[in-house]
Amino acid sequence: MGKIFTVDVAKCNGCYNCQLACRDEHVGNDWAPYARPQPENGQFWLRLTDHPQGTIPKVRIHYVAQLCNHCRDASCIGACPQQAIYRRDDGLVIIDPETCNGCGDCVSACPYDAVFFNDELKIAQKCTGCAHLLDNGFKLPRCVDACPTDALGFGEEDDLRDFTVGAEVRQPETGCAPRVYYRNIPGKFVAATVYDPVEREVVIGAKVRLTNGGKTRHSVTDAYGDFWFEDLPAGKYDLVIEAKGFEFKNITDIDATENSVNLGDVALQLTVNN
Ligand code: SF4
Ligand code: SF4
Ligand code: SF4
Repeated sequence: MGKIFTVDVAKCNGCYNCQLACRDEHVGNDWAPYARPQPENGQFWLRLTDHPQGTIPKVRIHYVAQLCNHCRDASCIGACPQQAIYRRDDGLVIIDPETCNGCGDCVSACPYDAVFFNDELKIAQKCTGCAHLLDNGFKLPRCVDACPTDALGFGEEDDLRDFTVGAEVRQPETGCAPRVYYRNIPGKFVAATVYDPVEREVVIGAKVRLTNGGKTRHSVTDAYGDFWFEDLPAGKYDLVIEAKGFEFKNITDIDATENSVNLGDVALQLTVNN
């Protein structure tokens, strides 16, 4: 089965140790025949991407480590006219820097933008899985070893079944069968603060219903008048707020397709009998 990487997004605190460790391991260091030195600028064999959601003050951010997926059906391998890219018995995909002729075909063939071109050396380069370390007795690649929260993992696919069953991979539709597995990538949220504009106070305990595609979720405003619906599938939502002494409040067509939505401060109107 071979080696795989795991990424638990919920454990990542955005410290960037993994990105820095990869650069420290490879910039200026010649690990041929695994890889020639990575240049000082322009390449991130592991890139930490940040994903802020919502608007101030209701903001969430998560980070996703992205690196070569060491794909089972790697399109980069087939694209190379020199047969310079190969998969090792342990599953790691390597670009042989001696055989690469610098045509760049693998750069455009990789749907994950994981291959970089070294203008000075005129070769393609990418994450090696730190095979130079593994072959010299180290158990973990530098990035995984540097992660202080165990958000990153590495090991035999068979030993990591507990993680991979139900996990996600990036862009599964590429057909490359990527082998970096992700868990706990948060969904969207819809949130707001509910208040009474006459008393100029937040409304505590208001009942909130959020619907989309026939599914209804329920929440109640907290001591700050806030409600949060979290980890939602991307999509459009309708909302109803109900509180004793106030008219129903309807908000329709809330667009959480691309970004989470902070509806801001939502005013309730007193019922006419009050
Ligand atoms: S992520 Fe791209 S470079 Fe890495 S193995 Fe897959 S196709 Fe090749
Ligand atoms: S496995 Fe090694 S080369 Fe690949 S991203 Fe991690 S540190 Fe960089
Ligand atoms: S080292 Fe670990 S916690 Fe830090 S940014 Fe990378 S994955 Fe996240």
